[in-house]
Amino acid sequence: MAQPAMDPKAARKALLAERERLLAELGEPIEAPGQMTYGSQAAAATFVFEQQRDLALRDRSRLDLHKVETALRALDEGTYGTCVTCGNPIAPERLEAIPWVAQCIDCARKGGAAPR
Ligand SMILES: [Zn+2]
Repeated sequence: MAQPAMDPKAARKALLAERERLLAELGEPIEAPGQMTYGSQAAAATFVFEQQRDLALRDRSRLDLHKVETALRALDEGTYGTCVTCGNPIAPERLEAIPWVAQCIDCARKGGAAPR
């Protein structure tokens, strides 16, 4: 049985806090286009731009949330702290800096896409 790379309780706490933050972020409603007044193309363009920016931010939050939840599941399964690409342990300093990181520094440097 491998030694846990870092205190699982501390990791879980950090992950849950981040999950909460992301959920709150995702919970904020994006303005619906229903309130738009007709007649101003510039306003409409600005609105579309802002909405797309919101959606892009939201996509990133959702991706982050996915990573956090994957890490929480790994904690439950006892595979937390293992690189999803090569299977080697992830350095504890790296996990402390980014508790939901899924790859070891070597794999991250190589730039290989992380499997979902
Ligand atoms: Zn690796």
